[in-house]
Formats: sequence, C-alpha cells, structure tokens
Amino acid sequence: MENVSKLTLMSNRITSFRLTHQNILTLGYFILLLLPFVIAESLGMLSEGLYTTVLSVLNLIAMMAFFVQFPLAGRLKRLPLFANIDWGMTKHKQLGKYLGIFFFLHPLLILAPKFFVSFDYLTVSIMDAITSPQLLTGLIAWAVMSVWVMMSIYKDKLCMSYETWRLLHVIGFVVIATLATLHITTVGSHGQYNQTFNFVWWSLYLLSMSLVTYNYFIKPRFIKGKPFTISSLKKISDVDWQLDIEAKSKQSFAFEAGQFVWLNTSGSAYNFEQHPFSIVSEQNNKGKLSFIIRELGDYTKALHKLNIGQTIFVDGPYGSMSLERSRTAQGITLIAGGAGIAPMMGLLRELAKQGDPRPIRLLYGNQTIQKMVCLDELMSLEKSMKNFKLVLLCEQTESCPETLQPFVKQGFIGKEEIQQSIDFDLTHQPLTQDWTVYLSGPQGMISATNQHLKEIGITANHIHFEQLSF
Ligand SMILES: Cc1cc2nc3c(=O)[nH]c(=O)nc-3n(C[C@H](O)[C@H](O)[C@H](O)COP(=O)(O)OP(=O)(O)OC[C@H]3O[C@@H](n4cnc5c(N)ncnc54)[C@H](O)[C@@H]3O)c2cc1C
Repeated sequence: MENVSKLTLMSNRITSFRLTHQNILTLGYFILLLLPFVIAESLGMLSEGLYTTVLSVLNLIAMMAFFVQFPLAGRLKRLPLFANIDWGMTKHKQLGKYLGIFFFLHPLLILAPKFFVSFDYLTVSIMDAITSPQLLTGLIAWAVMSVWVMMSIYKDKLCMSYETWRLLHVIGFVVIATLATLHITTVGSHGQYNQTFNFVWWSLYLLSMSLVTYNYFIKPRFIKGKPFTISSLKKISDVDWQLDIEAKSKQSFAFEAGQFVWLNTSGSAYNFEQHPFSIVSEQNNKGKLSFIIRELGDYTKALHKLNIGQTIFVDGPYGSMSLERSRTAQGITLIAGGAGIAPMMGLLRELAKQGDPRPIRLLYGNQTIQKMVCLDELMSLEKSMKNFKLVLLCEQTESCPETLQPFVKQGFIGKEEIQQSIDFDLTHQPLTQDWTVYLSGPQGMISATNQHLKEIGITANHIHFEQLSF
C-alpha cells in the first residue's frame, strides 16, 4: 500500500514537471558552466588520454562554477539568470561546498596518476608543486580556499559577527580568484599553450572583480542618493518590533508583496552592516515601507537605539516569493514560523487588498502567544476576507488568553496541519496539485516543512520559501 502511494507521488511529480522558473534558471546555469568546455573543445584542446580529458573537463566546469559564484550572490536585479536572489543564494551556498571539496581534491587528482608511474616521480612532482613559482599561486589559493570554505560552512560557530565573516568572505575570495586565475593561466595544458583561453579566464576574472567593485563601491553611491528616514518604531510583541520608514524625497519605491530589502542604519551607505528584512506594508506610491523585526542577535536586539528621523539606506527590493507565482493556484497556504510572519503579512495584506476569493490559509507557529504579532488584524481579516482561515500553533499554550483560544492549537506546524489546510475538489480528492504554499521561517523549520510538503505531494514548483538567513 505504502509502495503504491509512493509510486503515485512519483508519477504525480513527473507529470507535473514543467519548465518552471527555477528549472529554467538551473538549465541556464548549467549551460553557462559548459562554456569554457565548449571553447576548449572548439580550440581542439581536449585530445589527451581519458583520465586527463575527464579531469580537464571537470576542472574547466569547476573553475567556471567558481566565477559564477560571484554573480549568484551578487544582488543583480537586472540580469534574469541572477535576479532571483533566493535561488541564487541557495545555489551559491550548496555549490560552494561542492566546489570546496572538488578544489581540495584537485592537487590529489592531478598527482594520483604519477603515483602509479613511480613513487619517485610522485615525490619530484610534489617538490615541483611546492617550489615552482607558477604552481605556488595555486598552492596558496588551494590553502586559502580550504580554510575559507570551512569558515563559510561553520560560520555560525565562529567567534565573529556576521559582518566580520562577510567582509573576510569577500576579501578572501577576491584573493583566491586572483591567485587561481594566475595559476590556471600559467600552468596546465590550457594555460601554458593557449592565449585565447587565457583571455577567457582573465575576462571572467575581471567581470567578477567588477561585480565586487560595483556592489561595494558604486551601488552605495546610488543608494546614498535615495535615503529614507525612520518614521516610527514600536514594540509589537515580547520580541518583535515594527519599523516604519519613508523616502526622504517622497520618491516612490516599487516592490511586490513578499519581497525584502537590505536595511542599513549605520549612517553610511558604504557600511558593510546591512540586514535583510521583508516588507510587510502594502504596495504604495509614497515610498513608505514597514517591517516586522524579531530580536535575535546583536543588531536586532539593539533596535531600541534607533531614533525617529534617523537616516536609513535601503537596497532592494529583492526576492521572488511574489503572488505572481500562485496566479493559477486554486488555493494558497501561507506558513510562518516566528519572524517568518513578516513576508506572509505582506502577501496576506496584498491578497486582502485584491479581494482574492480563493481559499487562503495561514498557519502561524511560535513558542508562545506573546511572541505573535498582528493578531487583531489577522482575526479581523478572517471575518472580512472571503475565504481566509487562521490557525495559530503555540508550543506552550498556558498563557494564551481566552479570546484567542478558538484559534490556537498546541504544538508545531506539522504534516497534519498542512494537509488540513488544503481543500478538496468535487470528487473529495485534495487539491494538492493546484495548491500553492508560501513558507518562511528559520532554517530547521523550512527543511522539516519542505519534507512534509513533499510527503503530502505538493511539488517543488508549488512551494515558495524564504529562509531567514543567508
Ligand atoms: C531574505 C531574508 C528576509 C528576512 N526577513 C526578516 C524579517 O522580515 N524579519 C526579521 O525579524 N528577520 C528577517 N530576516 C532575518 C534577519 O535578517 C536576521 O535576523 C538579522 O539580520 C539578524 O541580525 P543580528 O545581528 O541581530 O543577529 P546575528 O546573531 O548577527 O545573526 C543571526 C543570524 O542571522 C543571519 N544574519 C545576520 N546578519 C545577516 C545579514 N546581514 N544578512 C543575512 N543574514 C544575516 C545569520 O545567518 C546569523 O547566523 C530575514 C533574513 C533574510 C535572509
């Protein structure tokens, strides 16, 4: 029986596979990675033995993937392949790990065949690698990269602030890119023998460095020219604040519900300390934006120090968790864990404004009711919207006031609650294939909920999520 339902799920997934936005991005990404391979092949540079050819192709793809890491995390709104920052950052993190492993193995893979020739040959090759100046650049890049990838994987365990880590991350990878480009253009069968090929690598290097320069030195100039000011700051739960800002010159700020911006309250548009927050206000033409911010670490716990009238710089909007993605869905479930309520409020307010008649459900989970926000508004939306249902889930319900008890369930947002949020069609089948789920919360909750959604049969192209950390 279990096998039958697994098979049904699989066949549902296969039949529902479409060329979705994410599939197109993935395809574009893979085509881009193959570019150096295509150039090498067209220059007739891949005609050695099988092992060397395979390794050479893998090296070309990996090096291209390394350069593509820069635009993936580059906040590029206008380049379609890199405009989806959620997708880009997820891929940047995933691929960073694989590239770290591949480049760590790179010298071993090159030296391995020499070991099979003779041990002496291997020893001589290792000595060459350490002493030859061309190979030294690769060796330093290899060592720095190994440390930097580990620092990225374990960044939450390091004794340094996120900002210090980010600054080191950028500087480290600029150094690695410089040394690695020097290395690949001076050694190996490609670098040594083909200037055309070297031109490709140096162009990619220059593009990557231009992007870093643009993001950290040029873009801040534009952001500086469009400052915002804090118009209101108030505590709205035991741990959350509502921050309202407006454009100083009243310029409009176009965004879609569900998007986020990077806020910088340091006083300098060039400062590295910028934090991403989702916009919760309705779209308006007056340059007014609202945020719900949870106290979590150094910055968010010091929000009370911000002053009304203070200048604030805004980079954005970014993010692709928009309502456009559920245009054809028969119903929508919004799932929010803790601070994840912010983008969900943005989406819900927009759905309410549009008078959307479809079934809309909000599952909102938190530790206690005292850590929940916008409860009055949510209950009044339940009455005013055509088909909206609210489910609050609290780990501890003892302190829950009587008026809220009809809405509150004890526990976490689990598979059962999600399943119950999906309506049935006329033949009493759940509308799983036509239902869209928006999801936002901490990393652990996103992974667990994604697993539930998979088991329920909601396909990846109907799930849109925002993980609250990069
Ligand atoms: C796309 C997105 C939208 C978000 N929307 C909201 C929101 O609407 N409301 C809300 O309360 N929180 C939101 N967050 C989370 C918020 O950005 C972090 O809680 C905040 O930056 C933490 O900073 P801190 O110094 O207080 O805490 P820290 O202790 O320094 O950081 C806690 C964790 O937050 C992440 N983080 C910290 N600084 C940054 C940064 N500059 N950029 C990216 N990640 C960072 C890191 O993973 C870190 O481990 C969002 C995060 C992302 C990525």
